[in-house]
Amino acid sequence: MENCLFCRIVAGEIPSKKVYEDGDVLAFYDINPNAPVHVLVIPKAHISSIAAVDASNIEVVSRVLLAIPQIARSLGLEEGGYRVVSNCGEDAGQTVPHLHFHILGGKKLPVTLG
Ligand code: 5GP
Ligand code: ZN
Repeated sequence: MENCLFCRIVAGEIPSKKVYEDGDVLAFYDINPNAPVHVLVIPKAHISSIAAVDASNIEVVSRVLLAIPQIARSLGLEEGGYRVVSNCGEDAGQTVPHLHFHILGGKKLPVTLG
């Protein structure tokens, strides 16, 4: 997926401020934060959104999910708590078509979700 923004971040073609990386998972600070701590956690492999999760990629997705609490802990969010969001498609406001989970925290977040 050569034109995918997050694939390009994975490839190092676009710089990012990394907070976690392993063979399957990358986490980096969101360029336009919506909370005092705002990190994106993505699979290195291109999966377009949660709508594209299936038996062929669930192992990679499970590694992304396993990394999220570890990353949140490393960011100091465990005690206060945090929100994990994945926008899927147009109505949800997904702007980058590469599966990503937002980790938001560092303040009391607004309760509205929809
Ligand atoms: P979405 O709107 O698809 O759920 O989330 C995409 C997120 O990617 C947005 O919060 C946006 O600020 C972030 N973003 C867009 N371009 C870049 C970039 O080049 N670098 C980083 N670190 N984040 C980006
Ligand atoms: Zn991609």
